[in-house]
Amino acid sequence: MTAPLDTINSPCLRGEVFIASIAAPGGGRDLYLSPDEAARFDADPDLFAAKYFELAKAEYREWIETDGTPFCGGETRLRRPCRARVGRPQQNPCDWKRLHRACLCRAHDGRASYV
Ligand SMILES: [Zn+2]
Repeated sequence: MTAPLDTINSPCLRGEVFIASIAAPGGGRDLYLSPDEAARFDADPDLFAAKYFELAKAEYREWIETDGTPFCGGETRLRRPCRARVGRPQQNPCDWKRLHRACLCRAHDGRASYV
């Protein structure tokens, strides 16, 4: 999900600055990291990105996989997670986490008789 680190060596900057590209719904983001931060990023890029967005690593991966789209918390008759959306795509991590698998679609909230 993440690109390798690039390094900036500029007389305008104090010390080395590393650029880390991290995945996010709707596109990636570049983070400017100190050498210590770059070492933590290199050890586990997805964990570093998850912490940046204040998500657990598994949540971060699911946020990326769903393109930030929250899905229904109900199950189908085959006991699989419902794939109905309960919000728009590319939500920020906080709103996605609040809605994802926490809200029900019309079929599961009792307003429809099919699933
Ligand atoms: Zn549903």
